[in-house]
Amino acid sequence: MVNSIKMVDLHGQYLKIKGEVDQAMQEVIDSSAFINGKPVQAFSLQLAGYLGAKHVVTCANGTDALQISYQSLGFNPGDEVIMPTFNYVAAAEAAALLGIKPVFADVWEDSFNINENLIEEVITPATKAIVVVHLFGQPANMEPILEIARRHGLKVIEDNAQSLGSAYKFSNGVRKLTGTIGDISIHSFFPTKNLGCFGDGGALSTNDEDLAKKALMISRHGQGQKYSYEMIGCNSRLDTLQAAILSVKLNSLDSYIQHRREAGMIYGELLQNLSAVFPPVEGIGAYHTYNQYVIRLNERDKVKEELKNLGVPTMIYYPSPLHLQKAYAYLGYKQGDFPVSEKLCNEVLALPIHTELVRAEQEYVFSSLIKSINTL
Ligand SMILES: *Cc1c(COP(=O)(O)O)cnc(C)c1O
Repeated sequence: MVNSIKMVDLHGQYLKIKGEVDQAMQEVIDSSAFINGKPVQAFSLQLAGYLGAKHVVTCANGTDALQISYQSLGFNPGDEVIMPTFNYVAAAEAAALLGIKPVFADVWEDSFNINENLIEEVITPATKAIVVVHLFGQPANMEPILEIARRHGLKVIEDNAQSLGSAYKFSNGVRKLTGTIGDISIHSFFPTKNLGCFGDGGALSTNDEDLAKKALMISRHGQGQKYSYEMIGCNSRLDTLQAAILSVKLNSLDSYIQHRREAGMIYGELLQNLSAVFPPVEGIGAYHTYNQYVIRLNERDKVKEELKNLGVPTMIYYPSPLHLQKAYAYLGYKQGDFPVSEKLCNEVLALPIHTELVRAEQEYVFSSLIKSINTL
């Protein structure tokens, strides 16, 4: 068993719900309604119900959802959106494609999320929004971020791609799921996300009816009446097959999350006395869903190599911050601009975590980690 530790186990997850998933897929095939079939609308409503959001608009993937959110909010070339530099590329890329300027901010070392104390210093008259990314399953510090946005008249876009099912508790005790807190939120159903389909999929959620209508129109070529185009849009649809699969899997999301959280606790227990390693911490008021379990340590690359030799796969999320990527050199950032993110990129290591992981595997990962550190 320990010889087959996987970063993710999508096949094992599938086998547990195979009957239901196969039937749902077969029904779509039998109906041949591959585009905008009934399961698409059904899944939108089901996800809206899960989130407690008024509107969900499905689309082809999470990156498209970001682009559609910027367009729905009416952002124009030259507008600026603030986002963490320690991040996946999607939020920056979608902005750049629309001529919107990604403006980076540094993150907290322990939560990996945007440091709200560094947001105000990068706000300019062109700033339109803060893109909050809930990284690895950990909610960002929403309460102060909302307050900053309110003070400066900015929109808040939540990138919830890695954190569907995570939650944040405000100081007054109100608990909200991530992806329901800002003005508009994006979700991804890439197979390894908390709720993954069998290919690409994405969605937007919002409580603002006008925004939801715009997002829907933009994702359908900006079309109002048939062949009447009211705004520039794109073609971004969730396949009927994916929607049918997602509807089945959404019923298991809470048990998937519970499993991820238990695995997170087990790693936490095992790692607590290993002084060479900083395990992830769950922030105050945060309900972490451990889409990734990312530790920090020195000599990361050597440890990663040793772990690989012992049969333990690991990943590096992310090896370089966005402000130092070639594609974003035109923004004019340089080494040293965001020291925490730059340091994290040298220290982070994602350990195997998924819905099928068992304690014995985690113990093997742990003992392998000790061995690997001791060979340094
Ligand atoms: C996965 C991901 C996305 C984009 O999702 P796709 O569906 O792959 O386009 C966006 N942001 C973050 C933080 C992600 O991890």
